[in-house]
Amino acid sequence: MINVDIIKKDFPIFQNTKELIYLDSTATALKPNSVIDALSGYYSRYSANIFRGVYDISEHATKEYEETRSVVKDFIHARSESEIIFTRNTTESINLFVNGVDNKLNRGDGIVTTIMEHHSNFVPWQQLAKKRNLVFKIIDIDEEGNLQKDWSVHVTKKTKILALSFVSNVLGTINPVKEIIKQVKKINPHVVVLVDGAQAVPAIKVDVQDLGCDAFAFSGHKMVGPTGVGVLWVKKELLETLTPYQYGGEMIRSVTAEETVFADLPHRFEAGTPHIAGVIALKHAIFYLQKIGLQNICDHEVRMAHYFCKKLEEEFEGKITVIGPKNRKSGVVAFTVKGVHAHDVAQLLNEDNIAVRAGHHCAMPLHERLGIEASVRASFYIYNSKEDIEKLIFSLKKIRKIFA
Ligand code: PMP
Repeated sequence: MINVDIIKKDFPIFQNTKELIYLDSTATALKPNSVIDALSGYYSRYSANIFRGVYDISEHATKEYEETRSVVKDFIHARSESEIIFTRNTTESINLFVNGVDNKLNRGDGIVTTIMEHHSNFVPWQQLAKKRNLVFKIIDIDEEGNLQKDWSVHVTKKTKILALSFVSNVLGTINPVKEIIKQVKKINPHVVVLVDGAQAVPAIKVDVQDLGCDAFAFSGHKMVGPTGVGVLWVKKELLETLTPYQYGGEMIRSVTAEETVFADLPHRFEAGTPHIAGVIALKHAIFYLQKIGLQNICDHEVRMAHYFCKKLEEEFEGKITVIGPKNRKSGVVAFTVKGVHAHDVAQLLNEDNIAVRAGHHCAMPLHERLGIEASVRASFYIYNSKEDIEKLIFSLKKIRKIFA
């Protein structure tokens, strides 16, 4: 069980912004002291560039940076550190991967994705399909917000890529990625599967080997880590064959006027000076989540989400509609309020110090599919309590009255 009062003490934002009710962790999670200290510790004690220096503070920074790679490797159960690439975020991880597989695809090859994807796992593939004349197929959802049962009809011998999210940032749906991958590889063992794990890693124990995927992308900032740091994991045999994303310093072994030999994995994919402090602090985010326990985190946010949904059902006589599966297993709850635009709801909630998100949440194809322009999204995490939900319900009632 999570003790929210104790957890909140680790997050200085609650001391600095006393009234804050933060229900937007799906966009970005708040940061605990240990992560903030790691960031400032780098800048105040050993802020040297990595790899290049033979002096102490540079070696210290390099060691800390590479230690995070090892922590991330264990966190997602990768086989080797050389499979872990640091990026800026999930978006960059996916773009790096798309760029890497680009020249493996030929006219008529198939890419399969889903209608519930965040734009970052949709637009890069859609654009690649246009550029290379590929067949771009989209798995639909059913009425509940789960992937359609007959999704496998989209996977054929011509399919080269399946790109799907683990957890939807709007529906809160957790896709059965392991079973899907198993089935996909049975139909066509050559399909390369990329999983967008942005909403999974904050609360679900991920084992990339057990999932059977070929690539996995996530962001540090959604799992109490710093902004500006993401991870791309790619199976070594595949990673070795990908085209580098960017060219420049740190990603080469040797350069002559005529030729460049690229560095070994994973540095071949990390051109230029990275977000050193961010990478270093990322391991402290992982330690923090592991100390609480991912199962505890998941149980807590699901309990909060269910409580909120139950309250909405009891108190709003159908005037508030929740989007996504009834029995969700995540902390994401998007909804619409009859007769009130989502932005108005969010703005009025802000007047009561409640932070939620309104709009399409970078999932326009999904909103179009649902026949709505926008939704309000409340997301629950380790620092949210039932009291937060009571206050949210109270404010929503006020809003309903204003627009009645
Ligand atoms: N995928 C999903 C499922 C997300 O929820 C998000 C962030 N909302 C992203 C990708 C993109 O993450 P980032 O902005 O950190 O690149």
